[in-house]
Amino acid sequence: MTNPLLDTSDLPPFDRILPEHVGPAMATILADNRAAIAALADAPATWEAVPAVLEALQDRLDQAWAPVSHLNAVVNNEAWREAYNAALPQLAAYGTELGQNEALFRVYSALEASPAFAGYSRAQQQAVRHALRDFRLSGIGLPAAQKQRFAAIQETLAELTSAFSDAVLDATQAWELVLPDASRLAGLPPSALALLAALAQQKDVQGYRITLDFPSYIAVMTHAHDRALRETVYTAFVTRASDQGPQAGRFDNSARMVEILRLRQEEAALLGHANYAEMSLVPKMADSPQQVTDFLSDLAVRTRPGALRELEELRAFARELGLDELRPWDVTYASEKLKEKKYAVSQEQLRPYFPAPKVISGMLQIAERLYGLTIRERHDVVTWHDDVTYYEISEHGEVIASFYLDPYARAGKRGGAWMADCRVRRRRADGTLQKPVAFLTCNFNPPVDGQPALLTHDEVTTLFHEFGHGLHHMLTRIEVAAVSGINGVAWDAVELPSQFHENWCWEPEALALISGHVDTGAPLPGPLLEKMLAAKNFQSGLMMLRQIEFALFDMELHQQTAFDEGTVQRVLDAVRARVAVLVPPAFNRFQHGFTHIFAGGYAAGYYSYKWAEVLSSDAFSRFEEEGVM
Ligand code: ZN
Repeated sequence: MTNPLLDTSDLPPFDRILPEHVGPAMATILADNRAAIAALADAPATWEAVPAVLEALQDRLDQAWAPVSHLNAVVNNEAWREAYNAALPQLAAYGTELGQNEALFRVYSALEASPAFAGYSRAQQQAVRHALRDFRLSGIGLPAAQKQRFAAIQETLAELTSAFSDAVLDATQAWELVLPDASRLAGLPPSALALLAALAQQKDVQGYRITLDFPSYIAVMTHAHDRALRETVYTAFVTRASDQGPQAGRFDNSARMVEILRLRQEEAALLGHANYAEMSLVPKMADSPQQVTDFLSDLAVRTRPGALRELEELRAFARELGLDELRPWDVTYASEKLKEKKYAVSQEQLRPYFPAPKVISGMLQIAERLYGLTIRERHDVVTWHDDVTYYEISEHGEVIASFYLDPYARAGKRGGAWMADCRVRRRRADGTLQKPVAFLTCNFNPPVDGQPALLTHDEVTTLFHEFGHGLHHMLTRIEVAAVSGINGVAWDAVELPSQFHENWCWEPEALALISGHVDTGAPLPGPLLEKMLAAKNFQSGLMMLRQIEFALFDMELHQQTAFDEGTVQRVLDAVRARVAVLVPPAFNRFQHGFTHIFAGGYAAGYYSYKWAEVLSSDAFSRFEEEGVM
């Protein structure tokens, strides 16, 4: 029987892909690719002879790896984890080997210097320039011993960052609090109680089960009157994978973080950079760490006075609630109550107007109108879970792209929301067009009691954000894989389309399409809409400052050159002393679960959210002037 990961003729056959297919598929593809690349050493310096061939080899590898990486994230278990982690060092080794291939580097250099280069398309030229840049970032110029060291670091980093992410998932899943009845859950709305009851049923226990999955965590933090309960859940959440809290030491990422940072610094030094931040910025829009730090510090200075006023208001209000000293586990709770008081509007009040099916179909309609598309669900495509829906996007009657949407939180699924590419748009050597396919993943409140899932407006915004990433990937016109869709886009620009699309969640014309009461179908009533819009900037200073704090922490951490067990906390404390108005308690270990920078692509890049927000605001101003539809 053939290995389903080697069958790239159609969409990934999710009903047949098993963990045991990963090892053999990777072995086959990597061996095939190595043989094909060896044969390229004497190839002529033309697009067709080298970049086009490499693109096809890489695409086959990507198409096999994309479903593996995806399944490891959304249906994680021991078998998937082992298969995925076993392949990581092999892939890292292959990547470095390719990046350090002198023969290929010579061909690409000759290509760029050749008279024919001027006649290449802009996409081809950019792909060649990026390839040359990436050779340099892989240590192409280094002596043999240092090249080897660089490769070893890459492999170790691949393992460490994956282990970091696994520890966060394990710590999230290992903790629970089962309550036999609802006596400690006063304040929770029916939707939240139903969620906790469903979480208990999943484990065949009586009563209510609180977990650290985001929908459960945030429900308790927002609504539970029981202050001690909030403290317990807060403490468990912010100490995940650390040396603190109820699971102290069990999934501790401390040593891993130091090791990751040391290796990143060593790698940067090998390539002649002062620190990792400097190296990380080479392919980004921003020019230097100083420019990024200045940008963030300036934002912090402008944001702080407003944030301080918001905090004072919150403290005063908390006293009215009998919370004389505002503790960290009071902030979300008191904020929600304050918002209800000021604007007479709550997340819970809005929720019945945002049933997931209505929101999703409204969002698709908006994209259809904005971009002249037709988007239809297809029921005959195999997926990895019953919650998943597959959609096709057509333009002028022709399918141009497709995506999978996996909206709800469940056991074994990593937290957060993200878009990943399943397949990239590219023109194949035989002239046919490969169409882009995307994975959209969220962790919303799942449907309970046979009711459709009712989303908070925050969740609606997240959905638009990820769909924005998806559209960036899927609506590309580019046919060269290296710069098609989100490929080759400077990381600090990548949050432009995503944050841009969030704007529609606040536009009355769009809200008419995405809202409809779960019982009556009525759109969001005018008065409620006005309250929602009035509350839009509630505590925006505090939220902005928090993002700046994380971004500065990331940027300054990656400018350090020596690391001991205390470095991470010291840098974080110093940043907080400078910019934060709400300083978390000493046991808070937010950083131990900061997968963006320790396991994702945001190392020395978390500032991208703020950087790209400027770009997206500029882009959206055109729509504000000329109409949002
Ligand atoms: Zn994003």
